[in-house]
Amino acid sequence: MRTTTVRVPAKINLSLGVGPLRGDGYHPLATVYQAVDLCDEVRATEVEDDSVTVEVHFGGDGLREQAPVPTDDNNLAVKAALALRDAFDVKAGVALSIRKVIPVMGGMAGGSADAAAALVACDALWGTGATRLQLEEIAAGLGSDVPFLLHGGTALGGGRGEEVSPVLVRGRFHWVFAIADRGLSTAAVYAGYDVRHADDPPPMPEVPPALLTALAAGDAAGVGAALSNDLQPVALALRPELQDVFAVAEQAGALGALVSGSGPTVMVLAEDADHSAELARRLLAEGVCVDAVQATGPHPGAHLI
Ligand code: ATP
Repeated sequence: MRTTTVRVPAKINLSLGVGPLRGDGYHPLATVYQAVDLCDEVRATEVEDDSVTVEVHFGGDGLREQAPVPTDDNNLAVKAALALRDAFDVKAGVALSIRKVIPVMGGMAGGSADAAAALVACDALWGTGATRLQLEEIAAGLGSDVPFLLHGGTALGGGRGEEVSPVLVRGRFHWVFAIADRGLSTAAVYAGYDVRHADDPPPMPEVPPALLTALAAGDAAGVGAALSNDLQPVALALRPELQDVFAVAEQAGALGALVSGSGPTVMVLAEDADHSAELARRLLAEGVCVDAVQATGPHPGAHLI
């Protein structure tokens, strides 16, 4: 049986500006995404009928299932395969197998990553010959973060996050991800944001110019100082214990720390690889997270291996 395998990174938001709720239920975003080398793998194997199935295995050092991942048509990788099949009138089925390393419901877009990976894997398996633009269009229909996970690297995200354009970056950034014992619902965090802004709608979001300047200069300290996330106060209100991660990160000399996306993962920026290892040790020793995972960015988007 023929097989294709795709590796896909997790995403973080170096800045996440969230505007007022739109009529279609989405929020306008102004974000800087970065893909990091904390990767899921999605394998697509030929089948003899037209069934589209998925199985999920948990991989990675110490990472475990923080929340259930659906193994039916609700799995975003299955949705992606079905969307590609519809768009190109493919008759074949596929057996998908996900090796999950990206924390589930961790604010790192793991489900969206698997969707991007499934698009690339099934495109290659079925020989659909989709253009980059066609894949991006299908990706945008699957979720706001999915186009970026095809793209990878570091990029601006506009619209509801799906309008992606590259950002100039020098150097590599060393991150430690403080993983919480259970996930946070993205929908609940956005609902909390709307409640906070019920009487005071937020302005249209913008990316902080200082962040772009620091990225272009490869200035890690500048990036650390410019990290921002409009959802952070809501995530911290829902999970006050995350404050302890910030306290330890600061004591250990982190260049910056931020709730990743809608949380509860907290991303901590280190000076270099040694400092990253030290930060991970300290976070674990202080017991402020269940796991502390080191990863660097930027990393390429979904790609065949
Ligand atoms: P985001 O950062 O995009 O808001 P997240 O990283 O917080 O998302 P995910 O891990 O993508 O959260 O999971 C969100 C929901 O999607 C979960 O309820 C999960 O059950 C569901 N889901 C569907 N398909 C997948 C998948 N392939 N991997 C992980 N979760 C999936």
